[in-house]
Amino acid sequence: MATALMVWIDQDLCTGDGICSEICPDVFVSRDDGLWVVKEEASHFGTTTIFDGAEGAGHGPDNGRGVAQIPDSLIDLAVDAAEECPGECIMIEPYDQTAIDARGV
Ligand code: SF4
Repeated sequence: MATALMVWIDQDLCTGDGICSEICPDVFVSRDDGLWVVKEEASHFGTTTIFDGAEGAGHGPDNGRGVAQIPDSLIDLAVDAAEECPGECIMIEPYDQTAIDARGV
């Protein structure tokens, strides 16, 4: 699908409050250690990939290498989440296929 933006979380700055997933649960999800990560949800991309640094299918790298595409229909909510994020750690950038390929999924 076409997408205009992508997102990642600087986990060094994440406070773990979960505001992002309250606003946009299809893009932001909690990890067991209390930090939040980004994901590509199956309802938008066909399969779910969580960029949480775990091994195996359905997982990808975390932190600065864990870059998720934002479905066009969720751009407004993802931007709202970034604006409300108390850690100012949600990074939204123009979609870049080179960066997506480099994340090692
Ligand atoms: S809103 Fe920001 S600081 Fe809070 S859990 Fe989400 S990414 Fe972390």
